[in-house]
Amino acid sequence: MAFSLAGALVLSASPFTAPIAEAVGNGPGYGGNETINTSILHTYDEMVDFLKTQEAKQSNMELEVIGQSVKGRDLYLVKYMSNPENPTILFLTQQHGNEQLTTEGALEFIKHMGSGKMKGVADNVNILIVPMLNADGAMGDVDFSLEDYVASGDRNLTRYNAREVDLNRDHVNKIQPETQALHTNVMAKYDIDYMIDLHHQGTMSERDGELVSGSILYPTTPNVDPDVLLKSKQLGAVVFDAVDSTGWGHIGKYNGGNAETISRNGIAVEYGISTLLFEMRGMSDHEYEPYVLGQKSNGYLIKQTITALDASVRAIADDSIEQADISFWDTLATQTTRPSDE
Ligand SMILES: [Zn+2]
Repeated sequence: MAFSLAGALVLSASPFTAPIAEAVGNGPGYGGNETINTSILHTYDEMVDFLKTQEAKQSNMELEVIGQSVKGRDLYLVKYMSNPENPTILFLTQQHGNEQLTTEGALEFIKHMGSGKMKGVADNVNILIVPMLNADGAMGDVDFSLEDYVASGDRNLTRYNAREVDLNRDHVNKIQPETQALHTNVMAKYDIDYMIDLHHQGTMSERDGELVSGSILYPTTPNVDPDVLLKSKQLGAVVFDAVDSTGWGHIGKYNGGNAETISRNGIAVEYGISTLLFEMRGMSDHEYEPYVLGQKSNGYLIKQTITALDASVRAIADDSIEQADISFWDTLATQTTRPSDE
């Protein structure tokens, strides 16, 4: 069961307790001699079972199908919508199917929403979560070969959808059914103020000489409205402060492009939504070995996701996000890539 992973690692070391000695950035990478086993991750079916179980348990949570993947998998939206007048935040995971710890973190966050610790928080903020947008890529159910991919286990996971298209380059034309579902039944349908788009990057990104646990970036297209950009930077400040203060988190500024085909840029311009890209360290699977991270870091990266989601929800609920100090962006170094030993 995929459940044991998150249960064992996250519950025994809650993001809200004492800092942990070893920074995730210095955790193990995949050196070619470590097993990368994908069977510890939720399959699509296990994720759906999890969501339905949580919906039955949590009276203020609603589950909606927003469309289907190329291969016909239902795509889900999780909703906590107590009052349409509340500010609304959307969390999006796994546009890239091989970046799954973001989804594992989102599922833990959904469970966390049903706990006493979050009592009352959702009265003042609406939360939307689209987990595993690229369900076919996550399940390796695609029309191209994955035989060179690194991971062993039940399946391989790939960045692309079943037609080998990068969904995070489809936010202008919206040709793929997954991006259409997201735009038609989430972006255009709800009055969304903030979005965090969750991803994973390679394992060798560093800032100030230390490997990062993750990297963040706001919309960089010149067409973004200044107020949308300001609020994006404030969302980044909330996430940075929450993760950096843990003692194990080490966040860099992501070096991202300006194209509006990328959700961070396109969605900010088209809908006036303040967006933040959050890239976790290391991918679940890839054909290029240095991109894949050993699963010993899974617990930290899942926790990093929960920490970011929890902090942003609370900062929006109590309006403190509007006072967030964005000056750190002026000094936060853009990450660089540490040369690999290979
Ligand atoms: Zn990605």
